[in-house]
Amino acid sequence: MVIDPYFNFLVSTVFICMMLAAANAMLAVRSISFSAATAHAIAFAAMAISWLLTVLLPLEASEVDLRLLLLLNGIGAGGVIALWSGLHLRAGYRVNGYFVGALFGIWIAPVLGIVILGFDRSSHVPFTAASIIIGAVWSTWLLYRKRGKKNAGDWALILWMALVIPVSVVGMTLGMSSARSVPNAPWVFYLSFLPTIFAGVGLFTLVSVALDALRDSNELARTDGLTGLLNRRAFDSELDIAVARAERYQRDLSLIAVDIDNFKALNDNYGHPAGDAVLRAVARVMTETARRIDVINRIGGDEFALILQDTPASAALRLAERLRHAISNAGTDSIAFTASFGVSSSQDVAPGSEALLQSADEALYAAKDAGRNCVRYAQDPTTEPAGLIGLVR
Ligand code: GH3
Ligand code: MG
Repeated sequence: MVIDPYFNFLVSTVFICMMLAAANAMLAVRSISFSAATAHAIAFAAMAISWLLTVLLPLEASEVDLRLLLLLNGIGAGGVIALWSGLHLRAGYRVNGYFVGALFGIWIAPVLGIVILGFDRSSHVPFTAASIIIGAVWSTWLLYRKRGKKNAGDWALILWMALVIPVSVVGMTLGMSSARSVPNAPWVFYLSFLPTIFAGVGLFTLVSVALDALRDSNELARTDGLTGLLNRRAFDSELDIAVARAERYQRDLSLIAVDIDNFKALNDNYGHPAGDAVLRAVARVMTETARRIDVINRIGGDEFALILQDTPASAALRLAERLRHAISNAGTDSIAFTASFGVSSSQDVAPGSEALLQSADEALYAAKDAGRNCVRYAQDPTTEPAGLIGLVR
């Protein structure tokens, strides 16, 4: 065993690959991004073994070593191809068996030629290079085209590969252009860069997985599981932001509070699952009826709220009436339901989100008192906006 800088570098490479394999195995065990993490755990384990063998068994030109060359290349090719497969899976693309087989074939066939047919010792290099470059180009392209909602980790991966691909082409070309079996500077430089390329792919993939997980858990914390609408926690912060914005820019802001009528009875008569279906139907109708910028929330059991930015009371009342109509028509022959609506608007209440919410709640009570399935507007009795009363049933 020769102790030289390249040897030290290879030892570090083995450990880095082992760490990346372990990190991906941990993700796979926790079922986080399972298939891609499994592929990458296999990829880095194979690379660690392949580079470890390189450290332990310096290849000399002998019969035994040729078989080792085959073994090393087989494990190395398997590892690199598992790395590309992991990227395909992250892009949401099924791994294509023919493609993987072809890449493996391109890499291994010339090594077999060396071992069995006695080809020149380094004649496999252009094929290995071709396999790596084709795999990298294809994986990067898939990641760019097929992966929806790319996070910073995905972009880092794409940029990294976009940088690495031309470097690989140049490194391989320069490396192969000089005397075949004599290592030349660009070739050694490129070989030294190869583990960094793969480790970069592994690292940025981990970042992408972590950012995805963070986004999912943030979304989960803000979302109501039954209806997919924003939950109470999200509502509180959205309302605070909307109120602050409306006060800062002197814009109108309206709020609609919605509560399903006699929902307890509906649950009792038709069962809880039917009640859940009604909640989902109401959420769907509201989403379809409101504008895309309206923030729709489920703030309690059968209570919903809509935050309407840049919306004066008159427009909010019109929307509430449209919602009331759409919901009362959303039932089936066997199960009918309606809802009551309370509307408040920043133009008629004291500043702050509490006053707006309380005002909408009072209007909602008034709607329930008035016999349900109707819209009411609560306002400071001293101010009476013209033209509203006619809209309120
Ligand atoms: P009102 O017209 O006055 O609103 O009468 P109500 O019966 O609807 O009274 P209330 O709004 O207080 O009833 C809410 C009911 O909603 C009570 C609870 O059993 C039911 N509920 C709360 N959460 C869920 C849920 O997730 N699924 C189902 N199916 N029912 C729920
Ligand atoms: Mg109710």
